[in-house]
Amino acid sequence: MSVKKAKTIHNKEVFQRVNFLLQANKLMAGKNNSLACYYGSLMKQLQKKSVLKIDSSIKRDLCKRCSIFLTPTTSEISVTEESLGIIKCNRCGYEKKYPINDYYKLWSEEKESIVEEVIITCD
Ligand SMILES: [Zn+2]
Repeated sequence: MSVKKAKTIHNKEVFQRVNFLLQANKLMAGKNNSLACYYGSLMKQLQKKSVLKIDSSIKRDLCKRCSIFLTPTTSEISVTEESLGIIKCNRCGYEKKYPINDYYKLWSEEKESIVEEVIITCD
């Protein structure tokens, strides 16, 4: 793992825009849900148009149907007897089910997944 300074990144402006829209979505979720959904859908459109990969941990925080950032105010979490966690979006009613496993980690959370760290400077 190496740290390099001021490396030029392809689609830097798009990354910054996607980052801004994610933060705006997070900020507006629970306060103005339709605006938060708009920011989320804009972010997904930008990502698709520029063929950017969004980290799966970020994807898990967004509702798949309406793209709102899932917080305790915008979603409900429940656990079934079969060890299934269910996150239900309060806005559109979409339910996301996933198996609960304490030992499971996303690949992006593993230390080996980091190939290179890049420090981006504003100029
Ligand atoms: Zn939703």
